[in-house]
Amino acid sequence: AAMTAELQQHIREIPDFPKPGIIYRDIAPLLASPDALRAATEVMAAPFKDEKIDIVAAAEARGFIFAAPMAILLGAGFVPIRKPGKLPFETHSHAYDLEYGTDELHVHVDGVQAGQRVVLVDDLLATGGTMQACCRLIERCAAEIVGCSFLIHLADLGGEAKLEPYRVESAIVY
Ligand code: IMP
Repeated sequence: AAMTAELQQHIREIPDFPKPGIIYRDIAPLLASPDALRAATEVMAAPFKDEKIDIVAAAEARGFIFAAPMAILLGAGFVPIRKPGKLPFETHSHAYDLEYGTDELHVHVDGVQAGQRVVLVDDLLATGGTMQACCRLIERCAAEIVGCSFLIHLADLGGEAKLEPYRVESAIVY
């Protein structure tokens, strides 16, 4: 709890970004603080320390920032989940609905092996649409999703319910 309050001091709130009525949680000050960056990464990895994690996977771009150092802490590898047209080898893809239109994420078909134990990571959980798409991709690889780890969870937007039955961990809850 003390650590959560400490980390929270490095999150900047920007009203009306990217549009009126939205309070954007800007993690740039946290990333720029050596102590907060290390602490956030450690807090996000800690729940999965004894879970024999093989792979930490994350969607670009901000998920990558935490996922690679978490993978090192957990003795795991890192697998990128990317927007269309970025991954060079054969991919699984999953399209998902946004407020306006759709988006699509990809993972290499051999990025995660069947049966591997995977933690999925992102900077922030809002409606859960992004992470749900990541889960579908890892399920397509027949891997085992041990849980999802976020820096920030905006708790009143329904994201945790959308990710059921998976375990959801977050360093900071609003
Ligand atoms: P969701 O798909 O609705 O859960 O939205 C989560 C995705 O949108 C994450 O990949 C976040 O990086 C991004 N996102 C949504 N709201 C914010 C915010 O307030 N600050 C930073 N990123 C956000």
